Amino acid sequence: MNMLNINYIINTFEHISNIKGNNEFIDIHVHPFDVVFDDQNYLINENTKGVFSIKNATYSCPKYNPMQTDTILRGEILNADLKAYEKLLIYKTRKIYAHTGPQVLYDHMKLSNVDKVFLLPVSGYMETNNNKIENIQYMFGNDNRFVFGYSLPNSLSSKMIESDILYHINKFNIKLIKIHPNITGIDAGSKNGIEKIESILGVANNKALLVLIHGGKSTLLRHTNMSEYGTVEKLFNINWRLTKYPVIIAHAGTYGYESFNKNKDNISIIQKMMGIHENIWIDISGIPYEMLHVIFEYIDNDRILFGSDSLYTPQWQVVIKLFESLKKYCRNYEETFLKVMSINPLNIYSKIHNRYMREVYRRT
Ligand SMILES: [Zn+2]
Repeated sequence: MNMLNINYIINTFEHISNIKGNNEFIDIHVHPFDVVFDDQNYLINENTKGVFSIKNATYSCPKYNPMQTDTILRGEILNADLKAYEKLLIYKTRKIYAHTGPQVLYDHMKLSNVDKVFLLPVSGYMETNNNKIENIQYMFGNDNRFVFGYSLPNSLSSKMIESDILYHINKFNIKLIKIHPNITGIDAGSKNGIEKIESILGVANNKALLVLIHGGKSTLLRHTNMSEYGTVEKLFNINWRLTKYPVIIAHAGTYGYESFNKNKDNISIIQKMMGIHENIWIDISGIPYEMLHVIFEYIDNDRILFGSDSLYTPQWQVVIKLFESLKKYCRNYEETFLKVMSINPLNIYSKIHNRYMREVYRRT
């Protein structure tokens, strides 16, 4: 086991800060609200400005803690008692998401040396309205450190997708569509699911939006028949080239698998997809430390993006794990680190940003 103490972490962030220089670090994958159980109501925290909390919860700033890079295999816990593990997970999630809001994210970003984050809401299976994006606007609006993603409710038919997205571009200036097949209930292997996803890609192409899709299983879900709606085998058959803008496959398609070999297979499927569709990128969120170097070995390093899946995982810990893995396995580790944290995400962001500039230019 590799335990890192606080001094080591502070020194590593000093090193990171030197590599960073004046570059901007971007996190492509942050959830302002819990997406799995999705049952918390927030009030303005009277004690700390910019914090929203569940009733009576006191906010304290996140900080560095000793951490281990190695992953504790969830498989062992899962086999022992799935129900108990689910209870523990609900408890942990409630605690993590007892607070949200701009100040909570600034505090995490400060620890991680991150400047800009993409906020990803996820529509629940039975959800019909869009109050999540309204809440994001209300809490995080008017600050260009936050880039808004949007997740379409499952109740929308393919025909309604375009007008719904247009409405959200105009009202909330969304830059990205997040698709979570396993939570929203879009089966990427069914005729209906493929049609929905391909409609979204068509609109993304016309309106210069990024698309980010969950790749892999979700082991703990209340609607368990949906837990494998977004596996890489299913994603493989979608025509991702319907949009010329970047499509990001989150977790490099490895989410929810315990086996190293199965994940190697998943990565080789992703690698094939990236060969067919030059607009596919991946993010490193949720990828265990032991798998990270495999990703960098097999996947074009120019198409790998930093994503933390925070608040589920503390953002600074994901930065450290990435850095430690690159340092250990990669020859030009400082250069590659800068690519993943800054150059690659800025590259995809500029693709949609330039389009917006052109549109403004055309109108004037
Ligand atoms: Zn996520």
